[in-house]
Amino acid sequence: MKIKCPICKKTTTWEENPWRPFCSERCKLIDLGKWASGEYSIPGEKTEEEKKDEKCKVDDRKIKEGGGA
Ligand SMILES: [Zn+2]
Repeated sequence: MKIKCPICKKTTTWEENPWRPFCSERCKLIDLGKWASGEYSIPGEKTEEEKKDEKCKVDDRKIKEGGGA
């Protein structure tokens, strides 16, 4: 059975794959790391952290455009 690695989207096989559903140990560790650090999110959906980050960037730009006295 062929599967797609959820991390790098590479096609791999389910059988004889010690890292399934990932293609390699690397991708498995990446996934574990994401869960552990709470960064795992559904693709297309922004996390609270990302939203905050965007707001910061906008505020930062406003300040720069303001020129400073
Ligand atoms: Zn992979």
